[in-house]
Amino acid sequence: MNCKICGREAEGSYCKVHGKAHRNLVEKFKVWKRALGVQWKRYLEEVAQNSLTGEKAREVASFLLLEVDDSLH
Ligand SMILES: [Zn+2]
Repeated sequence: MNCKICGREAEGSYCKVHGKAHRNLVEKFKVWKRALGVQWKRYLEEVAQNSLTGEKAREVASFLLLEVDDSLH
């Protein structure tokens, strides 16, 4: 299976780099949710648009936003 984001070799859905970025993203969301009550999609939008966020985190967030939109149809 290849990484859903960059197409590189992966063990699960993501390669090592994006897998790590994804884990960090999910962990950070827990904190945001507790502190700000922010929704998953809103959080992803923030991360995807924030220039202070790492490039990989932005790539993962943008990808997950597409999935969120898909799941609404
Ligand atoms: Zn990747």
